[in-house]
Amino acid sequence: MARIGVLIEARGGEVKKTALGALAAARQDRENEVYALLFGDHAEACKGVLRQYGADRIVAIRTPEADISPFPDVQAGALAAAIDRFQLDAILGVSGQTGRDLLARIASIAGAPLVLDCMDIDFPSGIVKKSHFSGKTTATLRLNGRPWILGIRPNIFPERIDPRQGDTVVYEATVPTSKRLVIREVKQGSSGGPDVSEAEIIISGGRAVGSAENFRILKECASVLGAAVGASRAAVDAGFASHAMQVGQTGKTVSPRLYIACGISGSVQHFAGMKTAKVIVAVNNDPDAPIFQKCDYGLLGDLFEVVPALTRALGRAQAPRIGHNEG
Ligand SMILES: Cc1cc2nc3c(=O)[nH]c(=O)nc-3n(C[C@H](O)[C@H](O)[C@H](O)COP(=O)(O)OP(=O)(O)OC[C@H]3O[C@@H](n4cnc5c(N)ncnc54)[C@H](O)[C@@H]3O)c2cc1C
Repeated sequence: MARIGVLIEARGGEVKKTALGALAAARQDRENEVYALLFGDHAEACKGVLRQYGADRIVAIRTPEADISPFPDVQAGALAAAIDRFQLDAILGVSGQTGRDLLARIASIAGAPLVLDCMDIDFPSGIVKKSHFSGKTTATLRLNGRPWILGIRPNIFPERIDPRQGDTVVYEATVPTSKRLVIREVKQGSSGGPDVSEAEIIISGGRAVGSAENFRILKECASVLGAAVGASRAAVDAGFASHAMQVGQTGKTVSPRLYIACGISGSVQHFAGMKTAKVIVAVNNDPDAPIFQKCDYGLLGDLFEVVPALTRALGRAQAPRIGHNEG
């Protein structure tokens, strides 16, 4: 049995879906004792959900500084202190933008091994698997020494209802307020829709989309599908889409149930960010495009015909069938 602290990211009092996946990852081993770690002001609002999704204990971390969101050093210091206070064997978070930064800081303070982008964790043996070399290989690593600091690939572990006691404890962490690093402003790059790292379905566009205006056809399809819109780096660099939408090695890592790549050639750097999607569909007008070697379903055609046709077909399929069975 191991005692695992799970770093819970919340937004507006709601636990992020990817954080529920991190709880499920910690709960894989039924014997594990799972501590949900979050900063004080979110604990009250989130405790019901955390109990429902497998937290044995909920730790509301408080620090002398009331609002520590601008101070990543202080957050990491408080989390590293929680390792000692609760005798944690590991801290598990999500390898998203916040997690990558915070987990690395915790590992540095605690002098602990850090593995990001984990796709599999075996707690009894300490063996983890992670994507390597832009997704070309998978590394299998054995961790020596504790605690382990692990970041899981977003959405790789589906959330699972597993009700637990979830007693709340308040932990007053005494960490010096560091002013070495202060976040003064956060500018939210937006796709105008759901975040790709959280989405179950993503429809992405590449260079071939041709303009920001043309992304409208992907957005229309996304709204029928309940999907987020993503983009390749070529589309982002050309100014067709915001960086928040970029999928790949230097963008976001995603693991949706369905990934539809439109006018994307399938470079290794793009593939690195989406290869763990459960089903990959490619729309491309070049039969030799590398993406056709990597997808589950390929549609050979012009995206400007295929995508609107898909939107119309999905719309028809969803329309209420009034009087259909009434003779
Ligand atoms: C260090 C590094 C990091 C990188 N990180 C990333 C990253 O994070 N994400 C990323 O995506 N890339 C990344 N890249 C860039 C990557 O190498 C590719 O250049 C990029 O992914 C290509 O984008 P694309 O597929 O949209 O464009 P292209 O490679 O130009 O492909 C366009 C595709 O559209 C097809 N097409 C053209 N017209 C149509 C049409 N009308 N209908 C249907 N299909 C059509 C073409 O056949 C072609 O296959 C990185 C590169 C480097 C060196």
